Amino acid sequence: MQFPSYRPRRLRANATIRRMVRETAVSPSDFIYPLFVKPGKGLKDEIKSMPGQYQLSLDMLPAEIDELKALGIPAVILFGLPSSKDEVGSEAYDEHGIVQEAIRAIKAHDPEFYVITDVCMCEYTSHGHCGILDDRGCVINDVTLELLAKEAVTHAEAGADMVAPSDMMDGRVAAIRAALDAEGFSDIPIMAYSVKYASGYYGPFRDAVGSAANLGKSSKDTYQLDFANSDEAIRECALDVAEGCDMLMVKPGLPYLDILARVKDEFKMPVAVYQVSGEFAMLKAAHANGWLDYKKCLLETL
Ligand code: ZN
Repeated sequence: MQFPSYRPRRLRANATIRRMVRETAVSPSDFIYPLFVKPGKGLKDEIKSMPGQYQLSLDMLPAEIDELKALGIPAVILFGLPSSKDEVGSEAYDEHGIVQEAIRAIKAHDPEFYVITDVCMCEYTSHGHCGILDDRGCVINDVTLELLAKEAVTHAEAGADMVAPSDMMDGRVAAIRAALDAEGFSDIPIMAYSVKYASGYYGPFRDAVGSAANLGKSSKDTYQLDFANSDEAIRECALDVAEGCDMLMVKPGLPYLDILARVKDEFKMPVAVYQVSGEFAMLKAAHANGWLDYKKCLLETL
């Protein structure tokens, strides 16, 4: 192909031909919408660092689900704000915890709507970590596995369609798979947050679930991935696939597109990508300042 016989601009001449030759499309059916649920009645509290996103009480969920359906969005992932937090994150695996009740509320309204749950401890622990701590403040891996497995089973019992462990403990997919199978939930798939980097982009999310203050200055660097590593991301995926996960995830999205491409290429598995709170908040903040067009940049990013 050579100029002047080949002129790429011919196929960019107008919107019709651009649409016809477009290689990539996103549709609402590609999306999983995050919902933050909390106790109370009639509550729809905006999350300050995530404009247009809310913490919702259970009675507000049916209207939210109807709106998502009208938009063509087929699935939600649930995050919970418990009524109280403690050292061992008790509400995470309480059969009447906030997420378990949210699943029931959504399924009572629409049994067909696809409900995914985030499986982790950090929304429920008083210290904001994704697992149980020992005396020195270190997350104990294998004890945490038992609680995560218990949490996943309570989600399945409440009617969740899929569980998504986000904790980054070693061996969690195997532990959850075994627990689900033992309780008769061998049909419930696992979407593993396999590649979850220790990212600064999670800031607004921690506001949303109220874990930022609890976490204080301590970091999650002993369990989340070092953002300088990519071979390690592939090893994490290989472990999760071997342990029985059904889908992989890369999180965050935009700073890790190289990882996303590598994971898709190497594993040929369904791969989800999490556009995290900080990515969303950056676009919103720049738009609010008149620095860029939110909608245009959002579509370009996706
Ligand atoms: Zn967590």
